Formats: sequence, C-alpha cells, structure tokens
Amino acid sequence: MKINVAQQLKQSMGNMRRYTVSETMGDGFSSVHGEIGLVLTNRSILATGEFNTTANCTCSRCLEEFQYPLKFELSEEFFPTGDILKDTPTSVAKVEEEDGFIIGEDHILDLSEALRQHMIIGLPAKSVCKPECAGLCQKCGQNLNTGQCNCSNEQSDPRWSPLRKLIEDQMVESGREVN
Ligand SMILES: [Zn+2]
Ligand SMILES: [Zn+2]
Repeated sequence: MKINVAQQLKQSMGNMRRYTVSETMGDGFSSVHGEIGLVLTNRSILATGEFNTTANCTCSRCLEEFQYPLKFELSEEFFPTGDILKDTPTSVAKVEEEDGFIIGEDHILDLSEALRQHMIIGLPAKSVCKPECAGLCQKCGQNLNTGQCNCSNEQSDPRWSPLRKLIEDQMVESGREVN
C-alpha cells in the first residue's frame, strides 16, 4: 500500500492520520487487513497499526498445508528524504536504512515492505494444523488424521514415544528385559 504523505509532512508535529489497509500480499499470504495510524514526529512519520492475514503453512506433524490465521502489530518509523519537515529547520540526520524505512522524494510512504517483514516475523517457526493433529505414522508415513494404518498403534503413535522410552529406560535400570 502506497500513501502519499506530502500534505501530512507540511503539518505540525503530532498530526495524525488514519488509513484502512486492505492489500493483497502474495508470498504465501492472503490479503492483509487492518488500520494504520500515521503520526508526524520531529524527524519521521511513525506508523502503527494492527493487522490480520492468513498464511499458508505446512503442519510440522502431518506435513499437510493449512491456513494459519496471523494477527500482528506494526510500529515503524518512516524517514523523509530532504529537509521538508516544518518543525525541523535543521537538516534531518541521515538515517541508516536499518533504523527504519525511507519515504521517497515523491513523498510516497510504502507500507508493503514493512507489512511483509512483520508478517514473516509473526509466523511461528513450528506450527500444527490443529492442536490434536495426530501426525504421520513413523513406520509407514500414513497421515493418521485421515485414518489408522496397519502398524501397531501403540508403537506408531509419536505422542507416546517419549513415555515409552521412559518406561523402557526404567525397566532396563531395574534389571528387567524389555519385552
Ligand atoms: Zn497436522
Ligand atoms: Zn503405519
């Protein structure tokens, strides 16, 4: 989303504007919706807002694709190029790119890159399609959400393997043979 901030940059410090954001993102995300508030500071435009989108994720248990609903906040400074801020007669300190985003000389504040970065950061490293996802059979690879395979349930259910290991360890410690 591109916002022309030429008029806002001429206002006094503290000037605030709100915009509704509804943008198609691509990159495995659906469209993103929310509201952005732009506040003029003594050196930049501070953009803050809350957004919703859904991301195409792969379940870390059953490896199926699913839609992950993502809610995220954004708070970023956008720095104008040139000395156009009314309340800052001296030249604006040169801003390193990692401190924020740059408003081009055309006075266009481009939210898209900031949104994209926050969406990627907001995604969990590991996600499951549903809390009770049964995952894949460790022996035959069958997706256990769609039905049981012919392997032994007790041995194939990955949720039980830590417990099973514990029991086996204890049996070994107590000097008994497993099975
Ligand atoms: Zn799953
Ligand atoms: Zn199996």
